[in-house]
Amino acid sequence: MTRSSGVRAPAPDGAGAPRLLLPEPPEGWSAWLDGIFRRLLEAFGPRHWWPSALAPAPAKAAPFEMIAGAILVQNVAWSNAARAVRALAEAGLLEVAAVHAAPPDVLEPLIRPAAYFRQKAQRLKRFAAHVVERHGGDLAAMLRQPPAQLRAELLELPGIGPETADCILCYAACLPVMPMDAYTRRIFARVGLFEPDVDYHAMQAFFHAHTPEEADLRGEFHALVDALGNGVCRKRDPRCSACPLGQICQRVGVGSAAAGPADP
Ligand code: SF4
Repeated sequence: MTRSSGVRAPAPDGAGAPRLLLPEPPEGWSAWLDGIFRRLLEAFGPRHWWPSALAPAPAKAAPFEMIAGAILVQNVAWSNAARAVRALAEAGLLEVAAVHAAPPDVLEPLIRPAAYFRQKAQRLKRFAAHVVERHGGDLAAMLRQPPAQLRAELLELPGIGPETADCILCYAACLPVMPMDAYTRRIFARVGLFEPDVDYHAMQAFFHAHTPEEADLRGEFHALVDALGNGVCRKRDPRCSACPLGQICQRVGVGSAAAGPADP
């Protein structure tokens, strides 16, 4: 299900347009972003996010699996988080009521592959407790709330910041919200569009203003940006010669001997 028609993404307080360092192209920003989306899609193919750890692509994670994965993947590689998700599933603990009932010392060894396992066990339990106490254990009902209300609720929970909240809005609640992250900031700063320290919500406001209000498209765009940032436009030693954005990037070759260090 995709909540795309008539459902507006929440506009966080203070979110305004970022200062753009490129002049608007003749075709307009929407067409410019569409061109980038198409280049990335051609290079990497559909990403099928949020990926299920329990079945191969194109399987996508069910809402609680997605949320557990979003908490577990913080500060670790996805492969480690996926191992933890599978361990929870094999123990029958990949559902709200089961996590709520499980003692921390049962959860912790299962999610050890995702690191910070004590903290992450607490965060999983806090999320489950919230669903039980505020929504009677009905995660679907929680996710059906008005978008701004859902986002505000998520941000009250420990370990859920703007990026994780927006991933949950997009991939679990199927709302047309495009999550931002460090990859988005780095890539679009190098392309020449944003300042390197552009604000999260300002960056998101730009993408929301110039992409169709569709959850599937915005979720795919975020996943494609992740693929580029993870495998090509790396912080150090970016692989510009293999980059699908090489023709439009202002810092192509960054990190090479001629162009200087990638991150001064
Ligand atoms: S050309 Fe290089 S610096 Fe520019 S987006 Fe691609 S990998 Fe990043």
